Order: sequence, then C-alpha cells, then structure tokens
Amino acid sequence: MSRLLIIGCGGVAQVAITKCCQNSEVFTEICIASRTVSKCEALKEKLEKNTTTKITTAKVDADNVDELVALIESYKPEAVLNLALPYQDLTIMDACLKTKVNYIDTANYEPEDTEDPEWKAIYEKRCKEAGFSAYFDYSWQWAYQDRFKEANILGLLGTGFDPGVTSVFTAYAKKHYFDTIESVDILDCNGGDHGYPFATNFNPEINLREVSAPGSYWEDGHWVEIPAMSIKREYDFPEVGMKDMYLLHHEEIESLAKNYPEIKRIRFFMTFGQSYLTHMKCLENVGMLRTDPVNINGVDIVPIQFLKELLPDPATLGPRTVGKTNIGCIFKGKKDGKDKTIYIYNVCDHQECYKEVGSQAISYTTGVPAMIGAMMVVTGKWNGTGVFNVEEFDPDPYMEALNKWGLPWVVDENPAIVE
Ligand code: NDP
Repeated sequence: MSRLLIIGCGGVAQVAITKCCQNSEVFTEICIASRTVSKCEALKEKLEKNTTTKITTAKVDADNVDELVALIESYKPEAVLNLALPYQDLTIMDACLKTKVNYIDTANYEPEDTEDPEWKAIYEKRCKEAGFSAYFDYSWQWAYQDRFKEANILGLLGTGFDPGVTSVFTAYAKKHYFDTIESVDILDCNGGDHGYPFATNFNPEINLREVSAPGSYWEDGHWVEIPAMSIKREYDFPEVGMKDMYLLHHEEIESLAKNYPEIKRIRFFMTFGQSYLTHMKCLENVGMLRTDPVNINGVDIVPIQFLKELLPDPATLGPRTVGKTNIGCIFKGKKDGKDKTIYIYNVCDHQECYKEVGSQAISYTTGVPAMIGAMMVVTGKWNGTGVFNVEEFDPDPYMEALNKWGLPWVVDENPAIVE
C-alpha cells in the first residue's frame, strides 16, 4: 500500500511505471508527472485497463523547486522517484527536503550548462583534488547527507542497472562469496542492433557526454585517468559472443571505492561497434557534442541538445532492436585464504522486453531496478535516514526481486577474466 510520485515520462520512466502497475500490491497509487503531460496521459490510458494501480498525471517543471513542492504537497506521496534527467537531481532533492519525503534516482547530478562559472569553479577544484574530469560526480548529492538526516528522510541514489544492479551485485558478492574483494570489472555489453547508422540507447545528450569524456579507473586508492576510448579489450560474453569493449569513467566506481575501501582496482568497460565510435568522433570533431550555448541569428543553441533533436528517440527503438544485453561484474578476491573469481551477470533480450513492456532492453534494464529501488524504500525493506548508495543496504531482497521482476541473474564461478 503506497503512493509514489514519478517524475519524467521518457524511455526509462515508461518501463518503471509499467512495472509499478504490474506490482499493484505495493504501488497502489502512482502519479506520473513530467514536462510534457501529454506523454503521461497517453501512458496512463495505455496502462490503466490492465492494472489496479490508481494512476494520476500532472505537469511539472522539475527545474522549479516551488512547482515541485506544490505538487508533492498536494499529492502527498511516500516517495518521489526521479526519472527525469541528472540536471534535475538537486532541485528534486531540495523539494523532497522541504516536504520531508523520501527521494530515489538512477543517475548522479550533472549540470546542464557546463560553462556556468559558479559550477565550473567547483568542478575545476574537484578535478585537481579527486583526479578525474567527468562532468558528473557524487559530491553534490552526498552533500545532502546531514540535511536528509535532520529531515528524517531517505535518499536512495543510483538504482538503475549501472549504477544500481552492478552495485547490488558487489554487495551480494561480498556478503555471500568473499572475505575480501580485491578487484571489480564491471562489463556493460549491448549486443543489440537497431538498424540505424547511429542512435543512442538512452537520452542522447547524457549518453554522448558520458562516452566522449576521458576514461578513468580506481587503483590503489586513487583515480587513473586516460584519454577517451584508449583502453580496449575483447570479451566473449555469454549469450552474446565476442565484442570489443572500452574503458570508461562510470559513476558507481566512485561510490564503490568509498563504500568498499578494500577493493584495490575498479574498472568499467562498455561495448561499442566501430560505426558508433566513428560517428561519435566525427560529431565531436565538428563541435556537435559541445554543451555550451552557441548564438545563431540571436538564438542560443546548445549543439548537443540540437543533435538530440535530430537523432532517433531512444523510446522508439523498441520495435526494431534485436539481440541481447549482458551486464555484470567480475569479482576477484579471497575466501577462506584462497583466491576466488566469480562473474555475476544478467542477460536481457531486446525483443522479449519489447513484447512485455514496449521498450528495448536498455530502458528495461534501468526501469526495472528503478521500480525495485522504489519498492525497497516504500515497503521499508531498506530504511534509514540520510543519503545512501544502493550497495549500502542488504542486497538479498533486491536480488530476489530482480529474479521475480524480469532481470534474472547468473553466478559463474569459473569465468574468463579481463586482462
Ligand atoms: P528521456 O530523455 O527519455 O526522458 C527524460 C524525461 O524527463 C522526459 O519525460 C522529459 O520530459 C523529462 N524531463 C526532462 N526535463 C524535465 C524537467 N525540467 N521537468 C520535468 N520533466 C523533465 O531519458 P531516459 O528515460 O533515457 O533517462 C532517464 C534517466 O535515467 C536519466 O537520468 C538517465 O541518466 C538515467 N539512466 C540511468 C541508467 C542506469 O543504469 N543507472 C541507464 C540509462 C539511463 P519531455 O518528454 O518533456 O522531454
């Protein structure tokens, strides 16, 4: 019995909302609120025939704290699930603080305008002190710790697949398989084919910012930063096959390094085909990935936002994407004094996801854990006050829920490793 306010109605949100409606016992009432309310209404109409969850909709500009506060005060949810963009994380957290309501998200904060001088000064200091230069990091949200505690509310950060499930896999590996974990390689493989020369699987702006940034990994207590796409490996993924993958900076490395200081090395690899990389390099070289406004005939245009308008909407890739994803973690460490290596992963089929919820597997693998994270919070299975990453809680009920709600996982105790 709970009431959840969901902000955003894009690719990920549409899966999470569909899953909440399959789980009506927990989510008795939901409100879908977004900038474009027609999308929320269309989804409500599609879902309400087959669910007992009571769905309402609202229009909200999540950049505006007062609008959010008014909506939260009128709807009175137990929690707010933020499935808008990372740009809105802080305004939604501010609104949750003011109204004393729990907060849940899937991605850490980054600013929309990376040329904003106030943000840039803090960013440049962080780059020097921390040693990595991605636009996103957890410092902004971890800074809410004391205020969330004082308000007696819970903030659950990063309950997508990666971060999210990969972080819970780490907590599960530590709880059930290791005395100490020494290294983690997170492998994100998309073996899907959508037939377009170039498209991204989730929000293009966020995706292209992430993959065009320098790569980095955690080793012996500090960050090692490398030029974008300069470390490449091949891996033979179960149920997908041999793929090229590249080392990227990724946000769960930061929280895992903080929460598991015993881990000496944490790396993240994502698979990319040559066509994707060639298109991205070309777009970057001509300035189309710039995140600062350019004035054209008196109108300010941010190149990467303009590019987003030209590219296929990830929410429309479902019917045409075939193949599978395989996302998981290879853990190396010690158990009872002996070396041990395990690989925990999930395989997801794009077409099966489309048949079930009308979306491709990338939205599915993020939307299902978003629903599960919200379920952990509203049922009180995960509780506390302050701001937490998912690996800080008991992984068992979450792992059980992954099996039940469409993301079954496998533990391979004799996997191939990544050099
Ligand atoms: P989409 O672009 O498809 O959807 C974003 C939604 O947010 C849209 O409905 C959009 O509204 C809405 N929105 C944007 N700005 C505002 C605003 N100011 N006020 C209200 N609503 C707003 O993105 P995705 O669904 O692909 O991604 C959603 C989130 O999931 C992102 O934060 C992304 O980083 C994260 N993610 C996390 C992953 C993980 O594994 N942890 C993997 C993939 C994504 P409108 O329709 O008007 O544009």
